[in-house]
Amino acid sequence: MTAHVLVVDDLEPNVKLLEAKLRAEYFEVSGANSGARAIELAKEEQPDIILLDVMMPGMDGFETCRRLKADHDTCHIPVVMVTALDQQEDRIAGLDAGADDFLTKPVEDVALFARVRSLTRLKMMTDELRLSHATGAELGILTNAKLAEFDTTQSCILVVDDDPDRDETLFGVLPDNYEMIFEADIKEALSVLRNQRVDLIIVNMGLETHDPLRLCSTIRTLSETRLTPVLAMVRQGDTRKLVRSLDVGVNDYLTRPIDKGEMKARIRTQLRRKHYIDQLRTSFQVGLELAVTDQLTGLYNRRYLATHMANMFDPAEQENQPVSLVVMDVDHFKQVNDTHGHDVGDCVLRALGQRLVQNVRGMDVACRYGGEEFVLLMPNTDHELAAMIAERLRSDIESHEVIYGKDAGQKLGVTVSIGIATANVSDELTPEDFLKQADEALYKAKASGRNRVCVAA
Ligand code: GH3
Ligand code: MG
Ligand code: MG
Repeated sequence: MTAHVLVVDDLEPNVKLLEAKLRAEYFEVSGANSGARAIELAKEEQPDIILLDVMMPGMDGFETCRRLKADHDTCHIPVVMVTALDQQEDRIAGLDAGADDFLTKPVEDVALFARVRSLTRLKMMTDELRLSHATGAELGILTNAKLAEFDTTQSCILVVDDDPDRDETLFGVLPDNYEMIFEADIKEALSVLRNQRVDLIIVNMGLETHDPLRLCSTIRTLSETRLTPVLAMVRQGDTRKLVRSLDVGVNDYLTRPIDKGEMKARIRTQLRRKHYIDQLRTSFQVGLELAVTDQLTGLYNRRYLATHMANMFDPAEQENQPVSLVVMDVDHFKQVNDTHGHDVGDCVLRALGQRLVQNVRGMDVACRYGGEEFVLLMPNTDHELAAMIAERLRSDIESHEVIYGKDAGQKLGVTVSIGIATANVSDELTPEDFLKQADEALYKAKASGRNRVCVAA
């Protein structure tokens, strides 16, 4: 991986020095001599990380950082503030401005490479999500709404620490609506993570009874916590532990003794990042679901069925597995609408959708094909089994009246006609031809009196 680093400093020699160090480690590097130029380059080049000097004439590092973080095109790029040594207030001000981390001048190599690597790794994960989100927006599936600001809605923080002298009052500086969970035992901690949503994990890297590095790497492999930020607490001067922590995927660290102000700012930064990732994930998933779901019944839609069927037939398939397709159409549905109104018609369609789902197996795909027509795709099902399932469904619908109206006080009987076609996955059959066969069987069922099942010849 060659990460692209943007180095920002008003003094040319400082830019050159960091450039040389980073190039030696095979990073790609650009330089900027002012905040304004940095913002320009960040938009243009989309670097993977920005190292930003605090003291600059004109727009200083804080203001530059604030602007980068407020802009939709650059807010996802991690920013590391480079401050003079012992400027504690500067660090906190930087984190307040939205910076992801800071380094102190003169910049130590270990800390520099560790921070750059860990932040670029995190960015790669978020980039993947951003990309899917952008693709969805292009397809018109997602609205490319600006991501909401981080709000202080309840966040949950898990602290894993077995130090008997641990000071839980430390966390008293955090807002009241944060839920804090303290665990001394790793097994208990993992069980919490599996069973409830946790937004941030803080791990004492000096754990006595368990290996904290192993815990951190486990957190990175569990699907529930893969993207959950981890903040390590490391003893001042323990560089070796720190580097190894960052190597196993810890997102950030606090040095002990812990400064309350810094802790508060770092926790907020990680929670903000988590919030951003959560939003991307949710909007992507919701978009995907919307794209393949029928709004009225909640079943899959025609688009999903088409894609699914296209993938199903494979001439190279050795095992000759049968597939059945069931097409179901409501009998005299127009009369339902004409007599009782369109709303009652919709109610009937929803009820039939539910009946359908109740009567199929987990591997079957149930969808509303359009109007009052439903399709059921059944893998590994021959025509006899398909006919049995279809007959059970037909009789189930006939014997259960649909309940509708105010206080569910009214009832209406409906029947359906069903056509079935069966093929083999190795057949060179197009989805259109397969559907046509089932449709012809359905037509036969209609023509021979409705409320019955017909199998294609
Ligand atoms: P057949 O037994 O031959 O299938 O008769 P039918 O009346 O069911 O068939 P036809 O195709 O003539 O009418 C289908 C009706 O379904 C017409 C249309 O208004 C109605 N329909 C289609 N989509 C919806 C929907 O989403 N909601 C409601 N309420 N009605 C719908
Ligand atoms: Mg009909
Ligand atoms: Mg019809």
